[in-house]
Amino acid sequence: MNAIASTDFLAVESELGAHNYKPLDVILTKGEGCWVWDVDGKKYLDCLAAYSAVNQGHCHPRIFKAMMEQASKLTLTSRAFRNDQLAPFYEEICALTNSSKVLPMNSGAEAVESAIKCVRKWGYEVKGVPEDKAEIIVCRDNFHGRTLSIVGFSTDPSARKNFGPFAPGFKVVPFGDAEALEAAITPNTVAFLVEPIQGEAGVIIPPNGYLRAARELCTRHNVTLILDEIQTGLGRTGKLLAEEHEGVEADLTLVGKALSGGFYPISAVLSNSEVLGVLQPGQHGSTFGGNPLACAIAREALKVLVEEGMIENSEKQGAYFLEELKGIRNNAIKEVRGRGLMLAVEFHPEAGGARKYCYGLKDKGVLAKETHEHTIRFAPPLTVSRDEVDWALERINSVLTG
Ligand SMILES: *Cc1c(COP(=O)(O)O)cnc(C)c1O
Repeated sequence: MNAIASTDFLAVESELGAHNYKPLDVILTKGEGCWVWDVDGKKYLDCLAAYSAVNQGHCHPRIFKAMMEQASKLTLTSRAFRNDQLAPFYEEICALTNSSKVLPMNSGAEAVESAIKCVRKWGYEVKGVPEDKAEIIVCRDNFHGRTLSIVGFSTDPSARKNFGPFAPGFKVVPFGDAEALEAAITPNTVAFLVEPIQGEAGVIIPPNGYLRAARELCTRHNVTLILDEIQTGLGRTGKLLAEEHEGVEADLTLVGKALSGGFYPISAVLSNSEVLGVLQPGQHGSTFGGNPLACAIAREALKVLVEEGMIENSEKQGAYFLEELKGIRNNAIKEVRGRGLMLAVEFHPEAGGARKYCYGLKDKGVLAKETHEHTIRFAPPLTVSRDEVDWALERINSVLTG
């Protein structure tokens, strides 16, 4: 195995670690492209891709090289000084995403928190909302991260229970329902925060036209539209950003996860100038946000995504993967859905949960994880080839019909 051959990984994790996750019992030690290897040398096709943080594939050689080169030169200056990677990162990500301002942060949750701060400040200073009255509308079954203000507007009991008291100022509406959104807007509404496709809720795709309707409502009522594209963004759904499927542009777009190709926690708030323009020196920050190592990694991770055709491949392999999944015959399957390489198979509640299928898949060399008990998400790296999709499908078919 490895240097500490006597280590019982499961027992040590159980004894010394907080039990805030319930992972599949597979101990990985190596990754390359779509594949990962466990400590016994068994190889698996990774159909989770670290919740879409490794869209570019594991240990992508170009991103690795950019990271090593930058790490040998300069890693962190803090924002007290400037570094020569930040401006090129801004230029490149703005050009790619058609944004006019960027706020670099680290985790996805931090990008969400930062957006909340910015739209509230915008509400008071630009829209004219009375002090401390700002309201933000969010969706039922949302997932935006794990910090206190975020779990405070979660509707998932296990994410919230006994973590209160929570910050006020959030209103929950059903996802995919533009009328409910309109009914919830008041003169104090500063933002509507939504995922273009709800990932953690089980790859829930809203009705066609929903994002367009939300965009129109937000524009009409002077409400900022915040799209959380931390999971849907950067090629996952077959477009650079999922908003492109409906031809809309958010006022703030949140990206994270694959912004580093899985090498480093990097996130960003992308915005028009009006909203991020409200931040003045000293009002927000992060020691690591915008550090030169992160910027160099993100620059290469974005280049790789575009130059290696990963977004087109996501659309192409995703369409094929979806059709083939739909062909699997098992009465326990309630629905198969997806866009690009963000796919899901949902089982009827009577089927007794999706986890047993995940274990079956793991035994056959396909790693996938259930989400919300009855759904399995299939979201491999965007580099997956037709042959690799076929390899996975053969095993998925045999486990789901076996
Ligand atoms: C993962 C995720 C987040 C949180 O990102 P972290 O880096 O885990 O904080 C927020 N929103 C969405 C849609 C996500 O999928």
